[in-house]
Amino acid sequence: MKYKRPIIKKTQPVYRITPSTFRIGAQLGTTAEFTDRRGEMWNLIQNLDGRDVDEVVASVRTRFPWLSRDDILDGLRMLDKYGFLDDAASESAVPSRYLPNVRYFSGFPGTSTAEATKMQDKLLSSKILILGLGGGGVNVATLLAGVGVGNLTILDSDVVEESNLGRQLLYREMDIGKAKAEVAASRLRELNSLTKITSIVARIDSSQDVLEYISDNDVVICALDEPPFMAQRRVNKAIVDEHVPCVFGANQLTHGRVFTVVPGETGCFDCLNLYYSRNDPKFVNQFRGFQQSNYQPETVAYVPTMWIITAVMADEAVRLITDYIKPKTLGLQYEIVYPDYTSFAHKAWPRYDDCPTCGKGNYDEWPIFQEYPGYL
Ligand SMILES: [Zn+2]
Repeated sequence: MKYKRPIIKKTQPVYRITPSTFRIGAQLGTTAEFTDRRGEMWNLIQNLDGRDVDEVVASVRTRFPWLSRDDILDGLRMLDKYGFLDDAASESAVPSRYLPNVRYFSGFPGTSTAEATKMQDKLLSSKILILGLGGGGVNVATLLAGVGVGNLTILDSDVVEESNLGRQLLYREMDIGKAKAEVAASRLRELNSLTKITSIVARIDSSQDVLEYISDNDVVICALDEPPFMAQRRVNKAIVDEHVPCVFGANQLTHGRVFTVVPGETGCFDCLNLYYSRNDPKFVNQFRGFQQSNYQPETVAYVPTMWIITAVMADEAVRLITDYIKPKTLGLQYEIVYPDYTSFAHKAWPRYDDCPTCGKGNYDEWPIFQEYPGYL
């Protein structure tokens, strides 16, 4: 038995339905119902109050002497198989502001409080670089400071403008004209003094610019939107060169899209360009037509939907660091449909050996790369 002092997870209620049935859990999908005519399991669970396994066995056998030690351990193993057990000895020592996170992580079957505490500790010692502090980045930064990422480096070249205030809620009216990175850093420090914030006022005009700041980070968040697609390619090149995973997010009109590149494991952003080049005969023409139209979109952003997409981006970063559950957007585009509050995953794109960025290919061989403005 891996638990010295087994208890039912504090996230799971235990309650009777009839004299011979009871349930553990209340959430759809994770609730189990037990039939227990003689009350043996119910009695076992009542004894899981923090005493050690030997005392639990002795107490249950006082009431049900025909049960062997193995029978009782089998009952415990069954509860463990459902993911309901925890160890009373593993009280989490993280600061109280993070305890609800620990309980959330430990709510997943098979994750004990001790393991969930290690996940929070990983966050506390992690380093994340956030590129762009507009409606995407500033909200991701707020969420990651709240959740307890230990080190956040935030970068933007812009100043706060009045037109930002409707969706970039870390900024105040009195901040208009000040550098976003500096204002955001000071607000994030007020939000969580345990998170070390480093602010950088700088532009990203090439992959080389990204490389300057990327080196010792565990995850990068790409929340740049200018120039469209080229900003993502520049960040992609840098994260591939430095082998740092990156969560990308972009808003369209009423949809948002999130995808994550893990260099060496998933396809990269330029592999996505190859994927469309190979599979969609209209792709290059469509991209060229769009670029040549010189379409200058006005900012479209509605803060409730910004919070939806940025919440997904922040959670993906937390998943990459803690592995509390597998990220959903690894090498695939996850599309969020705001009007319906639904989402769907596009088909994953592969990693190509002939990708010029993460493989051994050549940019000149792919017409799509000639259509991107500017340089990598
Ligand atoms: Zn690639």
